[in-house]
Amino acid sequence: MSKVAIIGAGFAGHTAAMYLGSALGKDHEITMINMSDRFLYVPSLVWVGIDRMDPEKTRFPLKSVYDKMNVRFVQGKASEVHPDEQYVIAERKDGVAGTVRVDYDYLVVATGPQLNFKATQGLGPEHGNTFSICTQAHATQSRDAYLENIARMQKGEKRRLLIGTGHPAATCQGAAFEYITNIHKDLVRRGVRDKAELIWLSNERSAGDFGIRGVHVKQNGHMLSSEDFISAVFDEYDIQWMVQKGVKAVDSKTAYWEDYEGNQGETAFDFAMLIPQFTGMDMKYIGKDGQDVSNKIVNAAGFVMVDGIYGLDYEILAETPEAWPAVYQNRNYRNIFAAGIAFAPPGPISVPHKTPNGTNITAAPPRTGMVSGIIGRIVAKNIIDLVQRGRMTHSERMSEMSAACIASMGDSLWDGSAATIMVYPVVPDFRRYPNEEGRDLFVTHMEMGLAGAWMKRMIHTTFMHKLQGRVGWQLIPE
Ligand SMILES: Cc1cc2nc3c(=O)[nH]c(=O)nc-3n(C[C@H](O)[C@H](O)[C@H](O)COP(=O)(O)OP(=O)(O)OC[C@H]3O[C@@H](n4cnc5c(N)ncnc54)[C@H](O)[C@@H]3O)c2cc1C
Repeated sequence: MSKVAIIGAGFAGHTAAMYLGSALGKDHEITMINMSDRFLYVPSLVWVGIDRMDPEKTRFPLKSVYDKMNVRFVQGKASEVHPDEQYVIAERKDGVAGTVRVDYDYLVVATGPQLNFKATQGLGPEHGNTFSICTQAHATQSRDAYLENIARMQKGEKRRLLIGTGHPAATCQGAAFEYITNIHKDLVRRGVRDKAELIWLSNERSAGDFGIRGVHVKQNGHMLSSEDFISAVFDEYDIQWMVQKGVKAVDSKTAYWEDYEGNQGETAFDFAMLIPQFTGMDMKYIGKDGQDVSNKIVNAAGFVMVDGIYGLDYEILAETPEAWPAVYQNRNYRNIFAAGIAFAPPGPISVPHKTPNGTNITAAPPRTGMVSGIIGRIVAKNIIDLVQRGRMTHSERMSEMSAACIASMGDSLWDGSAATIMVYPVVPDFRRYPNEEGRDLFVTHMEMGLAGAWMKRMIHTTFMHKLQGRVGWQLIPE
């Protein structure tokens, strides 16, 4: 009997657990360790943050899904991995004191991002001056503060709302973009749009870069870029926008940033939602003699190093699509895999920039929900292969993967909207597609309109169905 342990029940780990449980769960031991007893559908937190969705609609209990799938569930925080002796120690989070030891033959690390607010002085809802929509608690705090601002606008006060990234190397610009455009629509709906100044502040090279080097599409014989597309949205929605800016500190009223040229500047706000830097989750990796072996498993930022080629200069990396990992397997411990945000990318997708002061202002590569789910499936299928046949048969690099992103720009099914962006491949491959985009211009596509709002809503419902392991879940693609 083989033992498989998975740490983290997000898009990546939960998808992996469902495939592993349904294929191996009856004859082998599959264990999920997750801090919460609920799955959180993170993308809909954008709507929680403007009070357009009840937070409970973004969650469901995990245990009943895992019971169906023959997956053992441990509610706990994995704090130590012992890769030589092949076990994980988790601090129990189910209300009982103590720790649990989970032995494994194969381990999947799918812990998502650690929200590194402390990398930017004064950032964050707990110890700082800004809000976040990255967790359920953060999204409800944002919602409450946003509603206080609405109340003041309804009394006639003007408010400045600042949305974007809160660190020079932040990622997840798409979520912040959704938040600011949903805020715009919500303010219009509440009749107070004229009382709000909406400001976009981001570390992207250009509007619409989204950490994937932007997107170019062919429309009616003309090339259209995501920069044209997104800046037109900002102009239409009367959103002031600033890019190429790395936020370095925040106080109760002002965000302080450095720009590409090394100039220091500041932006005042009454309410700010700024995405922090993401790092890997803090866990100890302990060898058989008690020594720290983390340098064999994670990089300096705490992300798990897998079968990518690390350390290449950007110019070389951009020409080397095979530098992106294919099977997400650690090279030192071949029974350790990483999926979703937890794996270490070999470098940025967007063109990096260093200011004259040495500040690296570069949008980090996103590993969106779809990409995380696909990687979770690849990892699960390979572990199933290893258990059943002793060799892996699945692989998919981000330079071979397509991804669809539907960025909500107002949730209403009558006058809402969404930007639907389809990219193939996610990481440009200039060898296969020798155009300025490095992507397949037949598949890569951008569209904006009401249909996207319907799709975004349907995706919430369809994914909640799939992720609860309901009838036909395997037929719904990640
Ligand atoms: C507001 C917002 C909107 C977004 N919108 C979209 C969208 O529209 N489309 C899209 O594709 N992507 C979207 N994304 C990105 C998407 O949510 C992430 O890419 C995705 O959640 C990453 O999945 P993951 O499994 O890697 O990590 P996560 O979803 O973060 O899951 C990690 C899990 O591991 C658990 N965990 C962490 N450490 C431990 C530990 N030590 N022990 C036990 N458990 C642990 C966490 O509690 C969590 O349950 C959005 C992100 C945000 C913040």
